[in-house]
Amino acid sequence: MKSVRMVEANKPLELQDVPIPNIGEKDILVRVRAAGICHSDAHYRAGRSAMGMLPITLGHEVAGVVEKVGTQVTNIKVGERVCLHYNLTCGDCYYCHAGNEQFCGQVKMIGHHVDGGYAEYIAVPARNAISLPDEIPFEAGATLMCASATAMHALHKGRVKAGETVAVFGVGGLGLSAIQLAKASGAVEVYAVDIKQDKLELASEYHAIPIDASRMDAVAEIRKLTKGKGVDVALEMIGMSKTMEQAIDSVGNLGRAVMVGLNQQSISINTYMQVLGKEAEIIGSNDHLLQELPGLVELARRNILDTSRVVSQVIPLDASPINQRLDDLEHFTHDIRTVIVP
Ligand SMILES: [Zn+2]
Ligand SMILES: [Zn+2]
Repeated sequence: MKSVRMVEANKPLELQDVPIPNIGEKDILVRVRAAGICHSDAHYRAGRSAMGMLPITLGHEVAGVVEKVGTQVTNIKVGERVCLHYNLTCGDCYYCHAGNEQFCGQVKMIGHHVDGGYAEYIAVPARNAISLPDEIPFEAGATLMCASATAMHALHKGRVKAGETVAVFGVGGLGLSAIQLAKASGAVEVYAVDIKQDKLELASEYHAIPIDASRMDAVAEIRKLTKGKGVDVALEMIGMSKTMEQAIDSVGNLGRAVMVGLNQQSISINTYMQVLGKEAEIIGSNDHLLQELPGLVELARRNILDTSRVVSQVIPLDASPINQRLDDLEHFTHDIRTVIVP
């Protein structure tokens, strides 16, 4: 089968002809119908993250059709449309049993530690497959598995309740999903902070109140719009110290500031003014859980989470367009979501 693989760090991916993977008795073989190209893939190709093996097929946002099932698989049938949870966990350890599989000591990510979806076929454990309803195109199903799922987890971590207010810092793929999911959770007002006009316009189309941080102090504006109270939940989706500090600063009494964007730098907070005095919480949110995905897919099926505008470019399974797209992501030249359709 055709497969676009990372052979060496900091080198272009290569198109290779590899055998169709074998499956174990609890696995399924999926004919890939869509694989999203993610910013993380650009980091992997550049060698900024340790890979499980080399060469490796990248691609962790995958949707397709079940081609073959292992002898012990009962929950999935051949021919079923599925999207795939990208973290493979043991299902048997203390953390997996407690429903906190993100801490499984044996966690492996597809397209990072094991072969992913930039290929015609992928083999995964059957428990990682989520049924994808006919209403959701494969392209959208693939991208649901990364940014939208991570936004869903962040909202769960922030414990957004009906009647509350939410601020979302950064209106990319994560932020746009977060705005819609916050509304679906009953948030009465969602403030969307960004510095790009087109992002802010998009946020308004999804009924968020745009705050242009290039022209005003976002925290002061949030305070003004909430009559001095601050928001109940702030979500930081960018991964910059400045916006992390702003997110923490924007919550009111009993507020929850959820950190989602990756940042290697330290941040500075006033523990009394910003945390103790307000009984505020700073919460880390990392990735998402298998158990969150069926609900997310159902929200997309009902169009409560609109996926129609997520994917803006479709490319074939070939090395040069994929490398080109990863170059773009590396240089931030295009902010469009690309999906490979083999
Ligand atoms: Zn991704
Ligand atoms: Zn485990």
